[in-house]
Amino acid sequence: MGRYDELSPPIGWAAHVPAVITLDKVAKLAMKWMNDCDASHPKCAAGPPKLPKRLVDVRDGVRVVDTFVDAGVFPDEPYMTLSHCWGRESAAMYLLKTTQDTLYSNRQGIPWEAFPPLFQDVIKLVRALGCRYVWIDSLCIIQDDQEDWMAESVKMSEVYNNAVLNIAATGMRNSSVGLFRRRIHGQGFRDLMPSGAGAVDHSLETIEIQEAGEESPIFSRVSHDRSHEVLYGDMEYFRTPMEPLLSRAWVFQERLLSRRTLHFGASEILWECRTDCFCECTRIGDAHALSARNLNSEGLNQNVEAPGPESGLLEENPKASDEFHRDNLKTVTRFIRPKKVLFFDVCSGRSSALDFWLRAVEEYSFLYLSHERDRPFALAGIAERIQRLTGHVYLAGLWLPDLPRALLWSPCRSKKVFRAANRGIPSWSWMARNCFPHVQSSMCAARYKHVTQYGFVPDLRLEVHAEGTFCRYEHDNSFGLPVAGQIHISAASCWGTVEMVTDNKPGVRWNGRKDLCIMLEAGDDESPIPIPFLADCQGEDPSTVRLSERVLCVLIGSREAKEGASTPQYLLVLFPVDGHDGLWERIGFSETQDTATLMDDAQVREVKVV
Ligand SMILES: [Zn+2]
Ligand SMILES: [Zn+2]
Repeated sequence: MGRYDELSPPIGWAAHVPAVITLDKVAKLAMKWMNDCDASHPKCAAGPPKLPKRLVDVRDGVRVVDTFVDAGVFPDEPYMTLSHCWGRESAAMYLLKTTQDTLYSNRQGIPWEAFPPLFQDVIKLVRALGCRYVWIDSLCIIQDDQEDWMAESVKMSEVYNNAVLNIAATGMRNSSVGLFRRRIHGQGFRDLMPSGAGAVDHSLETIEIQEAGEESPIFSRVSHDRSHEVLYGDMEYFRTPMEPLLSRAWVFQERLLSRRTLHFGASEILWECRTDCFCECTRIGDAHALSARNLNSEGLNQNVEAPGPESGLLEENPKASDEFHRDNLKTVTRFIRPKKVLFFDVCSGRSSALDFWLRAVEEYSFLYLSHERDRPFALAGIAERIQRLTGHVYLAGLWLPDLPRALLWSPCRSKKVFRAANRGIPSWSWMARNCFPHVQSSMCAARYKHVTQYGFVPDLRLEVHAEGTFCRYEHDNSFGLPVAGQIHISAASCWGTVEMVTDNKPGVRWNGRKDLCIMLEAGDDESPIPIPFLADCQGEDPSTVRLSERVLCVLIGSREAKEGASTPQYLLVLFPVDGHDGLWERIGFSETQDTATLMDDAQVREVKVV
């Protein structure tokens, strides 16, 4: 048994998932889910019809239409959207695009052979579902027209929101692979190898077990838990090369903003709408229990109520009779809802937008962008929706009423991090950083878990001065690229000096991954007190982390006190801006190791962080 013990529940039932899915089967399944959603999900109802500027018309050939000027496009026509990975362009991999040069010919008609396999399959599916139009970003936005890109990309949230269905090529790395392909069963997510020689082949396909005299065979395969989990909880844990689409930053809002998405996952097809998730193997409803267990996520969703009966997530599956499974459900005290359901609850005011935002930022910050410049834009649709709902002031990825908590993002230490190329992004914004494990894959890896998971209490002396707090943006687009910003606070603060914890010997070279600390100046007669220091941008040179220099440590607050648990304090580490009295730049973050009283007698200073 050994290794199988870890796979709980060890045996469960599920529907058969064929290795290859056909257009016909997908269309039937999608129709059924769409009808179920239309008939019994009031939360998923469509808003007033509105068309994007351009669409791909797939009736009688394929061409790009301009919905504003072309005759014969009715404003209430349903259309679908596509979420896909562009992949890297190479001679072998050519992405079909609309450019200023090809706009005219694409409007006349695009020959079938010109479409990559993915686009061909998407067009077949759109037709099979009885729809005439599909929105594909690379074809409906003029890719080399900056003005068109700016105008259309800000409308992206509406484009996805108003579509009747979003088709997501979740398991495809680029458009060279079609939708109706052989799926990966066993998923490779778990390194499961059957020990009985010859019993099951290593590809872990579905196998048939039939005993003599039995009326019907039983099929056996590894569960699809992992494909279910990707629609739940925090994506950071679920990023997997098997579902490359989900690691792309742009897709984050495409998923959350669309009314409903049909995912072509690595191992099965999944449905995600504002009310529920469905899947081919039918066991996705159990994912909340699995996620909660696998994440070991105590407290992760403390602000989220257990799903109500209308969510369908708590209704016991009549077929789920295995005892183990029931026991498991009982032990899960806090439920994780699918991210999309949670976002809808936020949008309808039923869940805290600020808590949701910090979790969304954390997840988003670990997703890949091809262009660092897109970082604010690919989250703008969600920010705009939250602002429409709450009316809060947006500050380059932070919300004014969530200060000071939102300032406490902590840089992830496992990456080499640099200051973002755009120096207009204020240093207090998590967007001000960029790490690139490899070229064309910008992420900024910021964490908020320490404040979302354990609760946060601001220091009593801390004050946020709203009148001195602002952010300005390029082209006055308040969800676009920040050009300048300032946070004005009064807080207890103390001077210290940055030092390396280990290897602080002559000849040790800086490699961006040194352990740092700050020696806090305790008082005239006392020796300095070391506190841990996480530099925002470790990747550059010792001067970016201000090694051996004097820095100002500003106490923001501490972890919520719980019996028996320590309550570390959270500090921002600031460095004076040259030649500007009273202006400071954030250079890092500190979380004290234990309950600390370091700043009890510290002086309260007014600081403006830029
Ligand atoms: Zn629905
Ligand atoms: Zn499934």
